[in-house]
Amino acid sequence: TPTIGVLALQGDVREHLAALAAAGATAIAVRRPAELAAVDALVLPGGESTTIAKLARTFELFAPIQHRIRAGMPALGTCAGMVLLADRVVDGAVGQETFGGLDITVRRNAFGRQVASFEGEVEMAGSANAVGTVPGVFIRAPWVEEAGAGVEVLAQDPAVGRIVAVRQGPLVATAFHPEVGGDARVHSFFVDLVRASVGDTLSARPA
Ligand code: GLN
Repeated sequence: TPTIGVLALQGDVREHLAALAAAGATAIAVRRPAELAAVDALVLPGGESTTIAKLARTFELFAPIQHRIRAGMPALGTCAGMVLLADRVVDGAVGQETFGGLDITVRRNAFGRQVASFEGEVEMAGSANAVGTVPGVFIRAPWVEEAGAGVEVLAQDPAVGRIVAVRQGPLVATAFHPEVGGDARVHSFFVDLVRASVGDTLSARPA
């Protein structure tokens, strides 16, 4: 069973812990570097991306998280978490920092006033893995404005058709909140990916 952390500085941490447990992972809250060191993968929750980044600096987690992501740790970012995994942000706060890792440009608070928050069915399908149609809760969500060639588009939103879910290697991000809405399939998809990646690491070890 993989141990998956949820960065627990701000945002909807409890919902992610519950969804990860429902998807069969051991889920722990991460607030300290020692906790980060104990996890196989990390979830970056929804909340406020600038606040989470600042708190990560304060709690001495920013550099360690960035380092783990660069070293191949799987991560799932939802909403603010998608912003935090993006290499580039437009319409961000001045000096907004991200952990990066995903070769995408996200537009923060991208959906205009009319659809600033909405719910709809999101069809999550990738070339390799089909998750199915899941409930999508969008709350002042970002969208993906540009995705690099190595990025797999997993979903577009049902309102205006922008890219709202992506995967690149062990990194997955959704603009919506899969932890809200009582459907753990996105988390199951991520847990499977973590299992495969942890398995790879083990089998890559010299005997
Ligand atoms: N608008 C927030 C941000 O950019 C994200 C909102 C959310 O996570 N629901 O940080």
